[in-house]
Amino acid sequence: MRNVGGVLVVALVVLSSVSQIFGQDSPEPAAQAAGDPAATTAPAPAQSAASLPPAATTFNDVLDHMVQREHLFIAEMHHMHPMVETYVQDLKSDKAGDPTPVNDRYFLGRLDMSDGPEDTSFVGQPGFGRRVVAKLTGVYSLHFLPLGFAQMVILDSDFQKKYYNFTFVRREFLGEVRCLVIDVEPKPGQRTARFMGRIWVDDQEYNIVRFNGTYYPQPKVSFFFHFDSWRLNMRPGMWLPAYIYTEEAHLKTGLTKTLHFKAQTRLWGYDLKGLNKNEEFTQILVDSPQSVKDQSDAAADASPIVAERMWERQAEENTVERIQKVGLFAPPGEVDKILCTVVNNLLVTNNIDLQGDVHCRVLLTAPLESFTIGHTIVISRGLLDVLPDEASLAMVLAHELGHIVLGHRMDTQLAFSDKLLFPDEDSFQRLDFKRSAADEEAADTKALELLKNSPYKDKLGNAGLFLKALQQKAPDLPNLIRPHLGNSLAEGKSIRMSNLLASAPELDLKRLDQIAALPLGGRIKVDPWSDQVELSKAKPVALTSTHEKMEFEITPVFPYLTRLSAGGDKVALTTSVPSTTSQTPTPEQK
Ligand SMILES: [Zn+2]
Repeated sequence: MRNVGGVLVVALVVLSSVSQIFGQDSPEPAAQAAGDPAATTAPAPAQSAASLPPAATTFNDVLDHMVQREHLFIAEMHHMHPMVETYVQDLKSDKAGDPTPVNDRYFLGRLDMSDGPEDTSFVGQPGFGRRVVAKLTGVYSLHFLPLGFAQMVILDSDFQKKYYNFTFVRREFLGEVRCLVIDVEPKPGQRTARFMGRIWVDDQEYNIVRFNGTYYPQPKVSFFFHFDSWRLNMRPGMWLPAYIYTEEAHLKTGLTKTLHFKAQTRLWGYDLKGLNKNEEFTQILVDSPQSVKDQSDAAADASPIVAERMWERQAEENTVERIQKVGLFAPPGEVDKILCTVVNNLLVTNNIDLQGDVHCRVLLTAPLESFTIGHTIVISRGLLDVLPDEASLAMVLAHELGHIVLGHRMDTQLAFSDKLLFPDEDSFQRLDFKRSAADEEAADTKALELLKNSPYKDKLGNAGLFLKALQQKAPDLPNLIRPHLGNSLAEGKSIRMSNLLASAPELDLKRLDQIAALPLGGRIKVDPWSDQVELSKAKPVALTSTHEKMEFEITPVFPYLTRLSAGGDKVALTTSVPSTTSQTPTPEQK
């Protein structure tokens, strides 16, 4: 396994720029999201009705199919235990009237709907699960129950035609998927709060793929938020929740208090079985006698030094596998290779030959953090999202590489397998990759040295600018900056790699051409089924106002919906025309 990794790394050793894919200095696609999601005009209803399965000849048939599919969906969700992450930014309008984050909240858990939506906390805040609800006090614990956000994966747990009035609006494409757009309103006089808003139903199998609205009527003592909930086609015929965007601007919660916030909920880690299978496979390779052979010329016991290295490597591999199994690390993939390319650029230009390869992995959570586990550099999805360019990425990686080059050790107790046997939700408590202040300082110094000899040496101004922006925002976004496994990028007045601050240009929020950091969610795309990550293909767009800079901010989501082919793979798109099944002629062909 390691040898295979070695070959890949060697192939990438030539100083390569990843700027084509990473170096976009411009902001991300969410800015586009303000536009109309239905860029393509759908064919007239009468014409394309021919492509519907024979049963759905009337609107009433469509509703019957849809209700049936929704019941199947709820039954399916009872067996699913995805990770759920909700990140909330409290907003306040600044002098120019633009809402700016002034505080934030973070929740991470695993959804368990076997008895209604409930989640198990990974980060240990109060307020997880229904059992503790009664003990909660304070505005936020009441209003930001993660359970409330998890609820928004469900339109109505008892979805029946008789409870609602349905109005057909139009046909519309969401990505390549043609949808029927239907307005839904609870019939008057009901005691139970029900969904009120708009739904998008795919016009082949009648799955609800998106719904947008709130629950009605509002309860007396608490509130239902407005939400935009998206599902993705993860298995054939199965659309599962992936993103929920929530926003409230004028929600009165008392005589004087008004809630003003935006929140993004993401779900992933649906295929836990697949993740576990992967682990078994790797485990066999790690344990095979072959790996012993790699280390020595003749068949012999490992020498004391080799044995020590193997022991460290075992601790590293056990830990990485464990975290992947929990659903916190993406499986090895394309993004890791891009990160390794930058690491190799640093190593090669500094003539450093490390014993053993450096690996890179993506932590799937939003809080900005990076750390090392032995020779594995870990960087969070949120941090990858907000870094403005390749030089800033190199800065983050150089610090971690500094730890490795300086031989800062990991806790080798983790080589004992029992150390990793703990409940998933205890991961953040049981695993700790924090370094001492002295090690942090030494890694910063080493990182500067590595960067000064590297191809990034003339581009560090922007990296410093990123740090300035981070330093400025840190007091308002404590939960985004707070790491769960490693050291903080910014703590109080101190900031990592602070030597780069001096050489950075002045931070100017009003300049449209100065992008110190990007919004969250623009760079890394997570497959919620397999946890695989890839770089987003969305093209950067020019900013039209400073309001669109949204550095470190949450934005709405507009995923490009695609259908899975029969084999479970994504349908390859050659044109923007939506795909149709081979048996069904398109309206144009008829
Ligand atoms: Zn460090």
